[in-house]
Amino acid sequence: MSSATDERTAQLAESLSAVRARLDAAVRAAARPAGDVTLLVVTKFFPADDVQRLITLGEREFGESREPEASRKVGEVRATSAAEGRGTDDVAFDMIGSVQTKKARSIARWARAVHSVDRAKLIDHLASSSAAALDDGERVAPVGVYLQLSLDGDPTRGGALESELPELADRVEASDALALRGLMVIAPLDGEVDDWMARTAQAHERFRSRYPQATGLSAGMSADLESAVAHGSTCVRVGTAIMGPRPIVSH
Ligand SMILES: *Cc1c(COP(=O)(O)O)cnc(C)c1O
Repeated sequence: MSSATDERTAQLAESLSAVRARLDAAVRAAARPAGDVTLLVVTKFFPADDVQRLITLGEREFGESREPEASRKVGEVRATSAAEGRGTDDVAFDMIGSVQTKKARSIARWARAVHSVDRAKLIDHLASSSAAALDDGERVAPVGVYLQLSLDGDPTRGGALESELPELADRVEASDALALRGLMVIAPLDGEVDDWMARTAQAHERFRSRYPQATGLSAGMSADLESAVAHGSTCVRVGTAIMGPRPIVSH
């Protein structure tokens, strides 16, 4: 891959700068400090080469949603960078998709944080997996945890009800191998996105009054990042608007 002359790199540069401009405008419109919101580039379904291109373009934080695709890709990115004499200590990958309990061990090897934590059993598996990864030197910091809040109680999108959050948060807090970061939401498709995001902001405020360290709010995707930023998101997860439409894959 020769990035300077690469057509895909030019395409990614263009869509990335458009999204960065949207994000900057949203941060300004909300009268929030520049740099207040992290952009997580969601590279699921796209190859490791695209992650390398995005690193060349200055991106350092990525979101992945599926195992074992993510493990393989992260390994490839780290190996390619090492072969080119570039370190990847400053490059982070977060798990944003729903997690099967049995995948916790492999995710704890590569994920800085997991954004989609919504049940006690998963917390227990992530805690023991993170502890093992720390012991084995596969990671140096606890796994960050965002508890996924379900705004409408629809179980197909995952997420816990607001009433379940304290029990889950206490479970995260009980482990030295996990660090509570905040809440994550995926806005439901029906209804007004601004209403969902306003409700998210209120739930986050209530949550933070009990867990002051849980300052993170992972909210906003390609279609709704402006609304999310207006309502306090600290991390937008953007795929399609940067990467283009996801390739169709069969399972
Ligand atoms: C795929 C995905 C995204 C990115 O969605 P886009 O609409 O492509 O920006 C964000 N969050 C989660 C949890 C995802 O699975």
